[in-house]
Amino acid sequence: MVKMFIESLKNLTQKPATIGYPHTPSPSPKDYRGTIYYQEDLCIFCDLCEDVCPPGAILFEITNAAENIREYSYNPYLCIYCHACVDVCPKADEGCLVQAETRLAPLGRDSTLPQDVKLGYFMAKVTEAKNLDRKWDAFEARAAQSRDEMAEFKAEKKRLKQAAMKAKKEADAKTKAEAEAKEEVQAEITIENNVETKTETKKEPTKIASAMPQLLTEPKDGKKDDLTQIKGIAEKIELILNEKGIYHFQQIALWTEENIKWADENISFVGRVKREKWIEQAKELLAKK
Ligand code: SF4
Ligand code: SF4
Repeated sequence: MVKMFIESLKNLTQKPATIGYPHTPSPSPKDYRGTIYYQEDLCIFCDLCEDVCPPGAILFEITNAAENIREYSYNPYLCIYCHACVDVCPKADEGCLVQAETRLAPLGRDSTLPQDVKLGYFMAKVTEAKNLDRKWDAFEARAAQSRDEMAEFKAEKKRLKQAAMKAKKEADAKTKAEAEAKEEVQAEITIENNVETKTETKKEPTKIASAMPQLLTEPKDGKKDDLTQIKGIAEKIELILNEKGIYHFQQIALWTEENIKWADENISFVGRVKREKWIEQAKELLAKK
């Protein structure tokens, strides 16, 4: 009895074991790590926080695939406060993700949700607690769809890049082939020019100046040789030769290269003197005389 009385007195002086929840907020448990706060201007959108979050309380919605614009959203009522997102965030030291020891109002049917900009886009759009779960489900579907669209956009971008690279490769190969073909043609032209130049150079030393042979105004002793004995000289040609002052085998036998050229040019016998061997024949006929 005395023991009970002492115990009652003790309880009167001690703090109550219960609290007036929900009117009085429950105290934070030991090691409570609190709500996640985000600072968008420090974020590099590496998605690591989203990837490690066990309950999927952090989600990024891709609002513009071409510009890679993402919006961070966080559901503090899904969060299990494990700190994994802060541990993995490369910008956490600068304050991009912070776990603060603040406690949000309990999620009751009529309660109003916290409207802190650092809780992300989703919490900024949902004000009533009763709408939270339904809207989060819809948001999750939208975020997943934006991921699919982003994957399609990246695949298309890759395909276009590969096509452009292929086209460039083909164009380069075509340009190279054309350049090589041009070089080949140029080389052929150069070779031909060189051959022509060489031929011309070769010909030059053999170029012979024409020189008039010995011509007579009349046959020696008034008697001319019968030039038609030379094969190739018909009577008509003999007449021409005589008119020019050529009457004797001896005159023809003495012709030099320059004289032959003169005959080619002046009596229009181009090539005949050599071809028909007039000089050799003239020498033979002279020897027989
Ligand atoms: S603390 Fe854990 S559960 Fe909460 S957002 Fe970060 S990773 Fe997700
Ligand atoms: S881990 Fe940090 S930097 Fe990376 S997306 Fe999350 S908040 Fe941004």
